[in-house]
Amino acid sequence: MKNSLYDYIIVGGGIVGLSSAIEVLRRFPKAKLLLIEKEDTLAQHQTGHNSGVIHSGIYYKPGSFKAKFARQGSRSMLDFCQTHDIEHDICGKVIVATKPEQVPQLKDLYQRGLQNELNVSLISKQELMEIEPHVMGLEAISVPGAGIVNYKQVCQQFGKLVIAAGGEVRLGTKVTAVRNRHDRVEVETPGGAFSARFLINCAGLHSDRIAQQEGSNVGLKIVPFRGEYYEIVPEKRHLVKHLIYPVPNPSFPFLGVHYTRMIGGHVEAGPNAVLAFKREGYRKTDINLRDLAEVAMFPGFWKLAGKYWREGAQEMVRSVSKAAFVRSLQELIPEITAEDLVPAPAGVRAQALKSDGSLVDDFHVVPGTRCLHVCNAPSPAATASIEIGKYIASCVSTA
Ligand SMILES: Cc1cc2nc3c(=O)[nH]c(=O)nc-3n(C[C@H](O)[C@H](O)[C@H](O)COP(=O)(O)OP(=O)(O)OC[C@H]3O[C@@H](n4cnc5c(N)ncnc54)[C@H](O)[C@@H]3O)c2cc1C
Repeated sequence: MKNSLYDYIIVGGGIVGLSSAIEVLRRFPKAKLLLIEKEDTLAQHQTGHNSGVIHSGIYYKPGSFKAKFARQGSRSMLDFCQTHDIEHDICGKVIVATKPEQVPQLKDLYQRGLQNELNVSLISKQELMEIEPHVMGLEAISVPGAGIVNYKQVCQQFGKLVIAAGGEVRLGTKVTAVRNRHDRVEVETPGGAFSARFLINCAGLHSDRIAQQEGSNVGLKIVPFRGEYYEIVPEKRHLVKHLIYPVPNPSFPFLGVHYTRMIGGHVEAGPNAVLAFKREGYRKTDINLRDLAEVAMFPGFWKLAGKYWREGAQEMVRSVSKAAFVRSLQELIPEITAEDLVPAPAGVRAQALKSDGSLVDDFHVVPGTRCLHVCNAPSPAATASIEIGKYIASCVSTA
């Protein structure tokens, strides 16, 4: 097969790769762009295994990419869904303090919401009961702008737009090697080699490996954290009217197990956050020795484990014990029982870890020569994808 020369190659057909493709083609309409995805369909990994929430941006540090892109991105996502007739529901959410010691944290979070210029309000126990009659809380934040969508459906539409704009999408094509030549970047796949003047790495759980193959030292390792879910049986769905979240642990990047109404009408509870022994390890029994050894040999991992061993142990317990999972959920809805919950498919988050043991909190894009590596795009990157795509398009050099 001949080695065709493209202006841009994007690795990864998740929501970030697709939105980047759209925005690059919008900025450079004459560019020749190829998006390469190893799976046979788009959005098979993080994007297709998430909670489907359109986050408003309350949690994120003011001024961060996450705060800015979630706020703008939730509006862009809403516009996109309206324009392309994609089912969505701005159902609103509550963040609930269930213990007295959580009330100051709840108030801090409320202040953060105001700093991020969001429409949020503090509500009393009585007001909470009116919105969510089955939730037991002391005080809560109401976030009426939060909503839900199926991000797989969004990606199907993104894919159509990439092709309509002249882009090429190759599914079932795994990038196995990347070489940065003096005037182009070459990617190797089982179906042949492809070259481009510029490479955009949106490989999610494998983004650090693509960067390494290209020769960039991004100084971090992707650590996979599985998020396990239960689904509420149909007869008990009425217990959840909107989206119900706990007050998150401020030093932990995950939001705590919550209740989410999903597009399609079902209700999910979760996710927890346990170390996955395989980058795409959706089952507890999935192990990949290379993935595991890489994590174990990365010095940052042991520093992280030393710092968060207590939280990590709690998450492990919740993973192996349904009773422990249910106890966490009962903090929000006391009447939920183990019989009301059936296991649902898990997701795996790609979380970048630095060698000093700190988790990369914000979205993190590392520029190289003729390439850009999206090295950390965790939640709310699905919500923020359109704005991330615009940012990436503004960073790439002209074709
Ligand atoms: C459990 C869970 C819940 C979440 N909940 C939410 C939420 O409610 N709201 C929200 O906004 N965000 C949420 N997120 C975060 C959000 O889903 C991710 O931030 C987002 O999907 C990241 O998109 P991505 O395109 O970077 O990665 P991915 O969707 O993982 O896409 C990367 C793609 O690259 C491909 N790829 C990798 N290596 C190669 C290779 N060598 N060759 C070719 N292709 C390759 C993969 O197959 C994959 O399709 C959640 C995530 C998880 C896991």
